[in-house]
Amino acid sequence: MNHDRPNEYPIPNTMKAWVLGNPEELTLVDKPVPQPGPAEVLVRVDAIAVCATDVEILKHGLPALIDGELPFNRGFTPGHEYMGTVVRLGPTVDEFEIGDRIAVEVHAGCGRCQRCREGMYTSCLNYGYRDKGHRANGFSTDGGFAEYAVNNVNTMVHVPDDMSDEEATLIVTSGTAMYGLDVMGGIIAGEGVVVTGPGPIGLMGVGVAKALGAEPVILTGTRRRRLETGKRLGADQVVNVNEQDPVEAVRHITSGKGAQYVLECSGAPNALNEAARMVSRGGRICLAAFPADPVPVDLAYLVRNNIYVFGIRGEGKSATHRAAALMAQKRFDAKLIHTHTFPLAEVPTAIKYARERIEDAIKVVVKIREG
Ligand SMILES: [Zn+2]
Ligand SMILES: [Zn+2]
Repeated sequence: MNHDRPNEYPIPNTMKAWVLGNPEELTLVDKPVPQPGPAEVLVRVDAIAVCATDVEILKHGLPALIDGELPFNRGFTPGHEYMGTVVRLGPTVDEFEIGDRIAVEVHAGCGRCQRCREGMYTSCLNYGYRDKGHRANGFSTDGGFAEYAVNNVNTMVHVPDDMSDEEATLIVTSGTAMYGLDVMGGIIAGEGVVVTGPGPIGLMGVGVAKALGAEPVILTGTRRRRLETGKRLGADQVVNVNEQDPVEAVRHITSGKGAQYVLECSGAPNALNEAARMVSRGGRICLAAFPADPVPVDLAYLVRNNIYVFGIRGEGKSATHRAAALMAQKRFDAKLIHTHTFPLAEVPTAIKYARERIEDAIKVVVKIREG
């Protein structure tokens, strides 16, 4: 441990941070730089990606929850898909050194509930209760639309020198896709995987599935440019659902057999019914997106065909570490989904680009520090 070494990163007393007031109201303020406790470090945030969940939090509050309450007017800093540099170590920390580049997982969980103990810390039973020890930066504790953030050592992965800051912000998105493939059983090599919906998680799902040896990887969606990006990430076949029936297309590509897995990332109202008809009997479906309203589902078809349906919340069971490893090994090019970059002062514009998909924005990154 190097607690006594002079710190080459001067740490100011205050920092710039965006805080959430009323719904949709973000203000850039000066806040005290937080202090890391035991098992925590201070991270200088270098870059952060905007996520659809950030948009959701600004509008509705949930899934952010501060001490059991909605996050409005509590001085809360959102933002959860960030990376940066370790600049101060809390007591007992020897897992990281000052100067390490890291990317974050969102959820530390509470570490004491049944789900955390099972590795399902994204489904922590004490979610949103800081006094019970729960930490999920950008959800129940301060996040990364700021110059500094405090992270538990359990929520960080090392970033290799040859990976850019922008790319490293995408590690957690890949981790979510990895978690979806994990919960379906993770036996991917040689099996057909359909990814429905070419949003950020879907596109990373294509990259991860291909890197794990899936064959064929089929991506369905509506936007031609995103489907092309999917091909570059490793999709063997893409299906434009405006031009082709996606169930028929998948059946055709798999010689009538159907795929083993569907990773559902579209949130379309009929997605589960279609996914059920894309998999073979006994196949598995993971829902990583959902429609806003309740939808009818053909349950009889699922039961008669012994189809398993899973839902995931975030990126549990250290999936982020496995995704980071694949990215470090350059097994797929996550950078392809990074489309726009803004500085810290322009977070509201960055969020607007992501929300309205201006210029077909996929992943919008806020670069807090140059270099
Ligand atoms: Zn996210
Ligand atoms: Zn917990």
